[in-house]
Amino acid sequence: MSEHDKDTQESPVDPTEGGTAESEAADPAPPSQEAVVGEIEPAEPAQASIPETLPVLPLRGLVVYPYAALPLMVGQARSVQLVDDAMRGNRLVALVAQIDPSVENARPDQVRRIGTAARILQLLRRPDGGLMVAMQGLERIRIDEYVSDSPYLTARVSAYPDPEDSSLEVEALRRNAVAAFQQLVGLAQYLPEELATVVMNLEDTRQLIYLIAGSLQIDLEIKQEVLENDSLSGKLRKLNEVMSHELEVLELGRRIQGQAQEEMSKAQREYILREQLKAIQRELGESDDQQAEINELRDRLEKAQLSPEARKEADRELSRLERIPTASPEHSVIRTYIDLLISLPWMTSSGGEIDVPAARQILDEDHYDLEKIKDRILEYLAVRKMKHDRGIEGGPGEREPLLCLVGPPGVGKTSLGQSIARAMGRKFTRLSLGGVRDEAEVRGHRRTYIGAMPGSIIQALRRAGTNDPVFMLDEIDKVGSDWRGDPSSALLEVLDPEQNREFRDNYLDIPFDLSRVTFIATANNLDTIPPPLLDRMEVLQLPGYTEDEKVMIATRYLVPKQRRANGLTESEIVIEESAIREVVRAYTREAGVRTLERQIASLCRKVARQISERPADPAAVNGRIESDESIAKDTSTHEAQAPILELPNVTVDPAETKAPRDAAEVDLPEDASEGTSSVATAQPEVVDVAAVHRLLGREQFHNEQAERIDRPGVATGLVWTPVGGDIVFVEAARTPSKEERLILTGQLGEVMKESAQAALTCVRAGSSRLRIDPELWDQSTLHIHVPAGAVPKDGPSAGVTMALAVASLMTGRPVRADLALTGEITLRGKVLPVGGIKEKMLGAHRAGIRTVLLPRHNERDLEDLPPELREEMRFVLVGEIQEVFDEALLPVVTSVVQEAEPISA
Ligand code: ADP
Repeated sequence: MSEHDKDTQESPVDPTEGGTAESEAADPAPPSQEAVVGEIEPAEPAQASIPETLPVLPLRGLVVYPYAALPLMVGQARSVQLVDDAMRGNRLVALVAQIDPSVENARPDQVRRIGTAARILQLLRRPDGGLMVAMQGLERIRIDEYVSDSPYLTARVSAYPDPEDSSLEVEALRRNAVAAFQQLVGLAQYLPEELATVVMNLEDTRQLIYLIAGSLQIDLEIKQEVLENDSLSGKLRKLNEVMSHELEVLELGRRIQGQAQEEMSKAQREYILREQLKAIQRELGESDDQQAEINELRDRLEKAQLSPEARKEADRELSRLERIPTASPEHSVIRTYIDLLISLPWMTSSGGEIDVPAARQILDEDHYDLEKIKDRILEYLAVRKMKHDRGIEGGPGEREPLLCLVGPPGVGKTSLGQSIARAMGRKFTRLSLGGVRDEAEVRGHRRTYIGAMPGSIIQALRRAGTNDPVFMLDEIDKVGSDWRGDPSSALLEVLDPEQNREFRDNYLDIPFDLSRVTFIATANNLDTIPPPLLDRMEVLQLPGYTEDEKVMIATRYLVPKQRRANGLTESEIVIEESAIREVVRAYTREAGVRTLERQIASLCRKVARQISERPADPAAVNGRIESDESIAKDTSTHEAQAPILELPNVTVDPAETKAPRDAAEVDLPEDASEGTSSVATAQPEVVDVAAVHRLLGREQFHNEQAERIDRPGVATGLVWTPVGGDIVFVEAARTPSKEERLILTGQLGEVMKESAQAALTCVRAGSSRLRIDPELWDQSTLHIHVPAGAVPKDGPSAGVTMALAVASLMTGRPVRADLALTGEITLRGKVLPVGGIKEKMLGAHRAGIRTVLLPRHNERDLEDLPPELREEMRFVLVGEIQEVFDEALLPVVTSVVQEAEPISA
């Protein structure tokens, strides 16, 4: 035993079987085993009678078949002794596969029951004490019973030969197997060519089966299955099945390899062609330019800070660009794309610190009043600062609200956005969604389209040059009405902090992080904002300005701004407050101050022109003032001529008694006109009311109230429109007819039509109180007209106005001219509340209305009206339509109810 132990310890690691040093089982011998020749015995024929007991040598990873001759490595002490003992006896052993090849010192229950009896042919002793044994498989055996397990396994066995079978089936299967094997030899590298011939010439089916099974590289399980199968046909079937599978696999492998080769040669071909192309380009002198361009791009790329993804894409496109001739249209497509990649602010941010007190100052500097709005903006900034300072990231689902400034044009929405950007130390950029008709305009077109461009979001960011600007989405209420694609979802993606980290523009095709952008939306009309968007917004309403507010805004902000914009200084132009008020009243009719600003700009321009047309040399002014004729005669220079040409323009000032002589003189205070040369140029132009009329021309708006409300049947309604509140004249007329009819014209939606019917019924029901002859109704066609101009929104708020117009018509009592009204009406004459009161009141005031009838339930809305409005206007709250009639209708002007002139078609 001590010798065995020694053996065990000294057994070397078998390199082919990784870590099997202690294996006692026989292993297939590695081909290049160095061996020392020990006892060499002559080979013996493969038939012998099998004795009753045999030593059992468990095989690891190997099945030995009858007929097979093969070398085995034996390393384990137990097995070496077994071989040694066998060599001393009949040289016969039982070779049986282990069930699990990794098991060492296999016990009887760990080896198969069916194996092969084999004879030891030769034996080589290795320097490490292990053996290399050449074996000859003899016959299938079955282990009946183990008789000993020490020093090695010994068992009683019985020969278990395969039954003979020469049926047609076996013959067919056999041919099949031969054919398949020959094919396999053709495909599988590991099968030597000669095997094909050997197999073809084998007559013994059993031998054929074992030769094929032994030479295939297949699963041990299957090898054992072939051995154990008790019929030749079964064995052949199994083999055929395995071979056809092998064939398929090899065939597929061959095809894949073929393709790979094809691709390789294609790449080689391209390489050669490209080299040739380069040579041609060199000949044509093209490559230098192209290379210079590529180098320049590469330089810029190195300097630019791109996101890793963008960088990868840019590199890829750049190497494509290198290979594409400059003349190819694709060249410029790629070039434009790389340019975009380089110029986008992937990593550039301005990221200023938010300073809330400074922000307050900035907002005040830029905007008059708007206290509530400013407060809300400051709160918003304070929260952002707080979160930023404390490093709080918005968790999933908790989104920062999107500020949405809602109001008519020119109330300062955009400029508030600019101020927010200034207060945050960020760039400002904007995108108008108004004219956009296609989702692709926002998200870009795929680069596969000719003329594809990035979407407007990406373009705006490129303009901004930073990745954290304040981004104004203008006219978000115009989204959805005539868009192609799904606009709201595109915008929602842009606005959603969870998605916009990875915003994907179709053109760019790599994600751009929008999460640092501060989005602000603007809208004229809340009603048309798609609900999912509205849901995300914090709405700040700017209803418009009163006349006084406009004058203040103009004096403090617009005039200085326009003065600067037109290159003028304070000492050159002064616009009187009364002049501004005149501009507001007679040259604008708007909720905001946009036209006002334009008119002021126009005043500044005209004054600038006057000043620039003054003679540059003060002495010349004097000269001209002194001598009228000398100027008239002096036509030698343009300079001298110009003031004379201007004369008609500048002589309108009624304050001037004597005709002014040149432009410089016109608006100057009296002392200037007599003045010395230096005073004449230093005195500012003073724009007063008269100058306004002179410079801006005929007034554009006047109060048409009195003209329109001149007969029974007309009433002034108040309407809400996206550009602010406004007035509308509702007219009713009656023509005699046989049957009773109601005609409605103007821009009336369904709701308004119903409202008109209700108004009519309601007035008719109250006929007796209003002293309307009931018969009048029967013989009349009533026509109600609501002018299209200012009523883009369909609503019931014109109900009381229509009722009043009808009542006025039927009673012959005109409506008070300085009065306007709003309210919904029920059939029973109740007046119901309506929306947009603030805008409507501002509109009414603008139009010169001083008395407004409105539903009692709207009383609370009056609380946030500007004080100026509350002082100047009278509000009459009404609950019943009768109160409206009592308040609004004047006494009858004629005893007969007026009939309209016949309605012309
Ligand atoms: P919107 O975007 O609402 O159409 P803008 O922001 O373009 O209006 O405003 C038009 C002009 O009016 C701008 O020059 C703006 O500075 C000025 N403006 C509007 N409201 C105010 C205000 N409250 N104070 C000072 N200027 C104002």
